[in-house]
Amino acid sequence: MGDRFDAVVVGAGAIGLTTAVRLQQAGARVAVVTAEPSAATTSSVAAAVWYPTRTRFEPRVLDWATHTYDEFARQAANGVPGVVMRPTRMLLRGEAPGVPWWASALPDLRTLRSDEVRAPFSGGWAFTVPTVEMSRYLPWLQQTFSAAGGTLIHRRIDALEQAGVWAPAVVNASGLGARALCGDTEVRPVRGQLVLVANPGLHTSVRDEDNVDGYTYVHPRSTDIVLGGTFEIGEWDTTPSPATASAILRRCTELLPELAGAPILGHQVGLRPHRDGGVRLEADPRPHGRVRQLVHNYGHGGAGVTLAWGCADAATALVAGAVRPG
Ligand SMILES: Cc1cc2nc3c(=O)[nH]c(=O)nc-3n(C[C@H](O)[C@H](O)[C@H](O)COP(=O)(O)OP(=O)(O)OC[C@H]3O[C@@H](n4cnc5c(N)ncnc54)[C@H](O)[C@@H]3O)c2cc1C
Repeated sequence: MGDRFDAVVVGAGAIGLTTAVRLQQAGARVAVVTAEPSAATTSSVAAAVWYPTRTRFEPRVLDWATHTYDEFARQAANGVPGVVMRPTRMLLRGEAPGVPWWASALPDLRTLRSDEVRAPFSGGWAFTVPTVEMSRYLPWLQQTFSAAGGTLIHRRIDALEQAGVWAPAVVNASGLGARALCGDTEVRPVRGQLVLVANPGLHTSVRDEDNVDGYTYVHPRSTDIVLGGTFEIGEWDTTPSPATASAILRRCTELLPELAGAPILGHQVGLRPHRDGGVRLEADPRPHGRVRQLVHNYGHGGAGVTLAWGCADAATALVAGAVRPG
């Protein structure tokens, strides 16, 4: 097959597809190789609300998050399928910590007034963020990639060197797969379970992450509501637990009593690609067989959608030297 492409991206989740699209926009001929179809990735399960869940502050992370916010806001304004701007309330218990580190990425974050908060909450923030329905957005990304001449290859690789058969430059966007492909034991699953219910007419996302009984959020979408959740580090089981689902329903209904009796539409579990040291986005200087340039873009944990476009830009800049224009 030789160097039919300038770059190959390993992974067809949110990180891989956004990176592939950006590489094309930089003039590269791009292939994506993936073990699973997009609809079977962690990305397809994501509640996919812009929010840097359990992500530590670093200037580059804030930069990626800000660029991603701006890109989704543009896409929402342009009617890209599945992308909407949604009002959100983050409710806080205990001492309110001022504004969050990511506040500067948003145009409208404000502290809730005392008349907007009731016990057991002590405060909170209101803001507007992009919400992405991945069942519509991943197909749109894939279509955008194909329409620009991209090739999707369904293949599981056992080593990153193998991707060198398609192109001299490789972007590793394999999410949890990087644990095996890079021997990176810092990469671990963080299991997340969701319950999907019919929407009784809610519009605003609500978060109660300090709940001692469990991580709690309610994210309305166009035809349903995502209720969450769990954040189970090191847990690989993708079978929904009925007990966990009942606990999620109870917590969310306590938060928003309007949800009582909403018909259950489904249960989902996904494994977030957590990395202890944070996202790995860098060029790898070590030789990898016939691969001339290897760029890693994995380990986005619970914030892959939130960081996707910013990371795609950064990864593309790292590959750019290996990309032929036009
Ligand atoms: C319940 C839940 C809720 C979430 N909510 C949000 C949210 O609201 N906001 C947010 O920003 N994020 C959220 N996330 C996190 C988000 O889903 C992830 O950060 C993101 O999907 C990671 O994308 P990715 O492309 O790196 O990985 P994935 O989507 O897992 O894609 C990895 C790709 O690599 C491929 N691959 C792996 N190994 C190989 C191999 N050996 N050979 C070939 N291909 C391989 C896979 O087939 C797949 O195509 C949530 C996650 C879960 C589970």
